[in-house]
Amino acid sequence: MKIITPGRKQNGWSKECICTGFGNGDGGCRAVLLVEQADLYKTYSHCRDETDEYTTFKCSACGVETDIKDVPYNIKGTLPSKEAWKKRHKPPATPAPSGGRII
Ligand SMILES: [Zn+2]
Repeated sequence: MKIITPGRKQNGWSKECICTGFGNGDGGCRAVLLVEQADLYKTYSHCRDETDEYTTFKCSACGVETDIKDVPYNIKGTLPSKEAWKKRHKPPATPAPSGGRII
């Protein structure tokens, strides 16, 4: 096969999503985010005897969680729980103060 026009770098599933806070209070910042598989985790809500499962990402700009629906089934099955995801994605360390060098 020959590539006529190269596509984007294939890095697993990804999708442009808007940070809406859907399913989590709707308080999103409306940032447009390229959400990748590694950004997703499962959340659950319990209502009476039923447990609903959601696929959720956390906006890196404002920290609000948004539930998304159209995630391929085969990806959903591989997603970690929120707790497991959090362990893998520790909040970035605050950058060491740069500049401000005393002369
Ligand atoms: Zn946001």
